[in-house]
Amino acid sequence: MEKILISACLLGDIVRYDGRQKKMDHVLLQCWEAQGRFVRFCPETAGGLKTPRPPGEIVNGDGKDVLAHRAWVRTSTGEDVTPQFIRGAAMALDLVKTHAIKMAILKANSPSCGSDFIYDGTFENRLTAGMGVTTAVLRKNGILVFSEYEIEAASFLLKSNF
Ligand code: SF4
Repeated sequence: MEKILISACLLGDIVRYDGRQKKMDHVLLQCWEAQGRFVRFCPETAGGLKTPRPPGEIVNGDGKDVLAHRAWVRTSTGEDVTPQFIRGAAMALDLVKTHAIKMAILKANSPSCGSDFIYDGTFENRLTAGMGVTTAVLRKNGILVFSEYEIEAASFLLKSNF
């Protein structure tokens, strides 16, 4: 059975920076969870950050730019948490290799998990096009990353035995 990497906060794990979760009630997610398809993971806590924690945003680019050392991740309190974000992304890659995972469903807009948009590094609640650090690492390694708003597309792909 094809396994899926999923952001732990989408399954209700309390791992977000604000000490909360973002449980997604979707029939397909419930079905896949019951089938045991999910490998749940939070790259930020796995990378060594605590919950709750100050929010982080990527400054000067997106996850791809962080990997290319053109951008960095800083918290609202000014701390450089780039090493923790990179460590978490590397652990996500280890997990997908261990479980031969080809697909991930990751939380939208996160500096780790975002796939289409992220916050722009100003902490002024502005989104910009780009992906998070973990998404960048996974995509670089051929993993298909969907957000929680693209579950039907993920399902379509799963049925197609991609
Ligand atoms: Fe959720 Fe990803 Fe943020 Fe962890 S890093 S809380 S899994 S969005």
